[in-house]
Amino acid sequence: MLLYKKNALGKLLNLVLFIMFIPFLMLCGWFYYESKIKMTSVVHESLRYTAHNTTHQSIKTYLRSIDESFQRIQSLALRKDSQFNINDRGGPIVNVVHEFLNAHDLFLNAMLYNSDGEFRVIPEHLSKIKTPTDRPWFPHNTREGEIFHTLAYNVLDAEGNESGEKRVAAAMNLFDINRNKIGSVAFDLDMASISLGLKNIQSPYNSSPFVVDRNGTYILHENPRKLLRESVPTHWMPKFHDVSGFFYDDVTEMHVHYSINPNPEWITIITLHNDEFKRIVNSSLNALIFIAISCLIYYIGLALICKLYVANVMMRISYGLDGADVNTQAHDISSIFTKIQNKTAEFNDIETQSRTDPLTGLYNRRKLEEDFTHYIKKNQRIHLAIIDIDNFKSVNDTYGHPVGDKILTYIGSSATEWIREGISAYRYGGEEFVILFLDMDETQALEYLNQWRQKVSEREWREADLVLTFSCGLTCRIDEDLHALVEKADIALYEAKQAGKNRVIVHREFPH
Ligand code: GH3
Ligand code: MG
Ligand code: MG
Repeated sequence: MLLYKKNALGKLLNLVLFIMFIPFLMLCGWFYYESKIKMTSVVHESLRYTAHNTTHQSIKTYLRSIDESFQRIQSLALRKDSQFNINDRGGPIVNVVHEFLNAHDLFLNAMLYNSDGEFRVIPEHLSKIKTPTDRPWFPHNTREGEIFHTLAYNVLDAEGNESGEKRVAAAMNLFDINRNKIGSVAFDLDMASISLGLKNIQSPYNSSPFVVDRNGTYILHENPRKLLRESVPTHWMPKFHDVSGFFYDDVTEMHVHYSINPNPEWITIITLHNDEFKRIVNSSLNALIFIAISCLIYYIGLALICKLYVANVMMRISYGLDGADVNTQAHDISSIFTKIQNKTAEFNDIETQSRTDPLTGLYNRRKLEEDFTHYIKKNQRIHLAIIDIDNFKSVNDTYGHPVGDKILTYIGSSATEWIREGISAYRYGGEEFVILFLDMDETQALEYLNQWRQKVSEREWREADLVLTFSCGLTCRIDEDLHALVEKADIALYEAKQAGKNRVIVHREFPH
């Protein structure tokens, strides 16, 4: 197992991996934020819709029935011969009131009052109501056809005292054909029965709508123990100032949506506790959290594999540079760069050495072959001279091999002295040298060779009687084969040797 070291590359890799991770974090954050906002709005919208629906579909149906009942009574009151004799059991108004009480489960009882001051409760009631006009259900200043809804009010017992039981009533003043007020009729509404209608409402998040009056008393509620007994917090009441709306109550930690009914004494409310609200909003984010964690695990795994892979590659490069000499401390990028630089310098040295003759410092035969091929490709004009030291065998024999080497070294350095652009010298083998002249004519090459030959032959040596000369064969390229060219130069060299050595002879394909 390769251990990844905290070096410069490691830090860089960490940074790259971290930077790659930022878009993912940003995406998760944005998605989380967007989902939360969207979900919050969905919850509020469905609560708002339920409150609206309860008011404008469910409760409105009951209110319409109540309204129709009153309008029918009023239409009877408008008849020419109509008299609002509440004691007359056979009177049309009393009859229809009886009919309503029997047919509808909307009404508990009816209170009738006529302008003669007569008062009657149907069914006959035990409670003694001495002044009906003081009761909360009595409609005082209503217009013709207007229905008046009471707040939850206390019912009187048989003795005329408040019984503790509460009811809600709807009442209307009756007018005759001459628009004169002839009395009033009121019904106590069966709020428990109307509350059953709330059960048919599809309400979200296990919350159910209810209705309160302007005092906050529950007047429609699914729970009969709360109905007409309990109230919403009093500090909520001033907040119901619009036709519909929403507020969050810090005290009860409730999200409250409300909708005012067509009869403004009634307010439909739906609430959701903040804990439940948060649970609903966050539940939709669970999928996101799951995806984010899965991606995170996947990413960390991928990052580790990537880091291990890079560490492995670095170690392999390092091993490759060091060979078998494994130095575990040196796998950072800078040391690998240094190693590559050193290796490159080493390779350059070796390459130079592989093309250089160590004794004379001149290029060797391999370099000659490469250069020649290169010049041929460039189609350059080439003159080739081959040089052979005269009587070298006897020099070796007379003065010893080291002196022979010294002479070869001297030939190398003297050749270099004469070298200028377009001329290159090579040790061809033993005591033979090749000189290439590029883009020069024969005269220039001859001049160079003879000057050099002159200089070598004039050199005075410490060794007694040692005279150093060389012979040379020169030729010009006609074909493109190095060996053929060397052979031709060799012929000229042979001629030079035959002619007495220490001279340059030119080999010409077509003699002048
Ligand atoms: P010629 O004038 O006809 O060329 O006669 P020569 O004696 O030079 O004959 P040849 O060219 O055949 O002799 C080559 C000699 O060069 C043989 C060998 O001992 C000597 N030689 C070749 N390479 C080296 C070397 O690297 N060092 C030394 N000291 N001598 C070498
Ligand atoms: Mg020779
Ligand atoms: Mg020789």
